[in-house]
Amino acid sequence: MRVILLGAPGSGKGTVAEGLRSAYGFPKISTGDLLRAAVRERTPLGLKAESQMGKGGLVDDATVLALLGERLAREDCRDGYTLDGFPRNIAQAESLEALGATGPEVVFDLHVGEDVIFRRLTNRRTCPSCEAIYHVINKPPKKEGTCDVCGTALVQRADDKPEVIAERLKTHHAKTEPLIARYTAKGTLHRIDAGQTAEATIAEVRKVLDAVRDKTARSQD
Ligand code: AMP
Repeated sequence: MRVILLGAPGSGKGTVAEGLRSAYGFPKISTGDLLRAAVRERTPLGLKAESQMGKGGLVDDATVLALLGERLAREDCRDGYTLDGFPRNIAQAESLEALGATGPEVVFDLHVGEDVIFRRLTNRRTCPSCEAIYHVINKPPKKEGTCDVCGTALVQRADDKPEVIAERLKTHHAKTEPLIARYTAKGTLHRIDAGQTAEATIAEVRKVLDAVRDKTARSQD
């Protein structure tokens, strides 16, 4: 199964992808994580991506596709995966279709109001090493400022500052929201209320995926 998570920054894509990884074993493929790793490692692609990321715009499609193609070619993606943050525009959706992957495609639009997005992102802390996500009030780490998973010091992402959040939202409305109509027309889109708790949102997503799985299994009998 190939799961695509659409949704504004702060809608909970990373958290849902992590929930699906622990429930079904689907690897979480986040283009944001891949890009941040490339920036940290100062690779040529990372150096190219850095300024757009700092401004809240989109990194060019060729750079993102190069990183994604390499990741999707790995063995753990053979039976499915969850895409967190890709596609971000129509051209990327077309490139994904051109890969010709098989198996059911399920797309979720994680819908949440902008007031909730600002609160979530300004309170978000992330682990720069393993990309685990925390919230200073709703999901604090056990030891203040330290990742529960790997012990690295947590950081506030440079693009989780209010002025960059506003730009990221503008980019989302202009470039990514048109994908909703595309996947609605394809019949693969499911809209989810992502303003609920993480547990409730993940449970709703899982209900849809379990139903798709049952239907696919029945059609193969
Ligand atoms: P995210 O972690 O998904 O919020 O992404 C952080 C930043 O990485 C975005 O604001 C973009 O600058 C860049 N980015 C992530 N995914 C993509 C993508 N699919 N296409 C272009 N830029 C991306």
